[in-house]
Amino acid sequence: MSDRIFDGTIAENHRQAIEEATANVQFDAWIDGAHESATERFETLDPVIGQPITTVPRCGEEAVDSAVEAATRAFDGAWGSMTQAQRSTAILDWVDVLRDHSDELAVLESLDTGKPLSNAEFEVGKALDYIEYYAHIIRGEQGNQIPIADDAHAYTTQEAYGVAGLIVPWNYPMILTAWKVGPALAAGNTVVLKPAENTPLSATRIAQLTEGILPAGTLNVVHGFGDEVGAPLTHHAGVDKLSFTGEDRTGEKVMKAAADQITPVTLELGGKSPFVVFPDADLERAASIAAEGIFYNTGQSCDAFSRTLVHEDVHDEFVELFEGEAASMVIGDPLSDSTDVGPLASEQQFEKVREYIEVGTQEGATLVHGGKPVAPDGADDGWFIQPTIFDDVDNDMRIAQEEIFGPVASVITFSDYDEAIAIANDVEFGLASGVATTDLSLAHRAADDIDAGTVWVNQYGRLVPGTPFGGFKRSGIGRECGKETLRKYQQSKTINIALDDPASDRGE
Ligand code: NAD
Repeated sequence: MSDRIFDGTIAENHRQAIEEATANVQFDAWIDGAHESATERFETLDPVIGQPITTVPRCGEEAVDSAVEAATRAFDGAWGSMTQAQRSTAILDWVDVLRDHSDELAVLESLDTGKPLSNAEFEVGKALDYIEYYAHIIRGEQGNQIPIADDAHAYTTQEAYGVAGLIVPWNYPMILTAWKVGPALAAGNTVVLKPAENTPLSATRIAQLTEGILPAGTLNVVHGFGDEVGAPLTHHAGVDKLSFTGEDRTGEKVMKAAADQITPVTLELGGKSPFVVFPDADLERAASIAAEGIFYNTGQSCDAFSRTLVHEDVHDEFVELFEGEAASMVIGDPLSDSTDVGPLASEQQFEKVREYIEVGTQEGATLVHGGKPVAPDGADDGWFIQPTIFDDVDNDMRIAQEEIFGPVASVITFSDYDEAIAIANDVEFGLASGVATTDLSLAHRAADDIDAGTVWVNQYGRLVPGTPFGGFKRSGIGRECGKETLRKYQQSKTINIALDDPASDRGE
């Protein structure tokens, strides 16, 4: 927990926090183990007060080229020649340094995204756990010996691809970076990382903190916009593996670019996750899970429970409890310990969410809670919106089909099991889902029938190193967080050796 004390207005507190967090740090690109500035820079804004935190370089193709060249040199040199054990030790040393800087990273993450500082602290810790996990499991990686014949010795090894181009969005900058950088480095690749343009700060710092630990060029960071930096990275002939997290439409572009070079690609895309509340569920618990599922991170989670499917027999009681949960959420300064819900991360996201609330009303859904922008005292220019619940939603409505990416829940009623499963699966995404029930058999049956990469039973969002996460359908290709993720950053090689007949050696 942070022990900082503020006694001004929210705006004054934020200006002070920004000054402290940026005082001794240069927020430049990080290429070949050194700062790389640029004449053109752009601002990253604090969503609580709508004012700049700092500026970062507006990189372009030239910086991408330099970063890929540096990563290639490191792969051909110092990093690429290390053993698994040496890489593991180096990554763990880096994690130790990052842990020493956890407080600083959490403040940067909170200022950049608007997420409550307590959440940012938790997420920074989790992010480091993921990197550490891959540094540990790489030590146990081994190939296979394949008994194919008496006169042959065949075995496999796993090799890194080379340079991995990693692109992340703005909703969980630290965690999503860790999900990619951890396995990519542990597997032996070098990295060119492109953080989201509106949340570049934590990635900048973790790269700078590799200094003296990872060889120059092992982890490079290039800042900038999707079409100016992201696209050149996905088209680059020097990039051997791509991993992208973001919107499904951008994922399409990344996959097409990867196809031009036949570059292997991992895609972690959007979601429209159902949370199915069966009539036997503990309703108070279900309401609390539903609220956490859609209001954590102000609803800007790919796996958010954005569709709450409720059995008709318990609908009224559940909705009352759900409303109570929403009403109890404290909207305010993310730097305050009491805040549950911060602002949307950007003005663009704020406008998008407002538009969807308008769409929901026009489509005939019943607004039972929230729906309005709010301005906590002293943060008049912040991008805050009340936790919002729509009832009487039909699954065909746009608010039930499209990813809003904000604190907006859609309650949909069902009358039997088959209808619940049909509604749950009737979206183009399949990232995550949830089930509330006290019946173990029902939980297993529903888990089997729902088309999603994750099914949470009587809980939301629990992910730990080792539990694979990723999507069915338009939610993506591949899995992150699991042991299998390491394989996505490696290619296997088969070595097949002919063994001469010992008798022929003796001239018989
Ligand atoms: P986005 O697709 O707009 O941007 C993601 C990243 O891609 C950014 O860094 C952006 O600059 C870059 N980019 C944009 N255009 C590009 C292009 N043509 N080529 C290469 N890179 C490009 O997504 P966003 O709005 O930043 O993030 C929100 C989306 O991310 C949501 O759809 C959410 O569901 C998804 N998401 C998925 C997961 C998951 O694990 N499945 C996790 C978090 C977020």
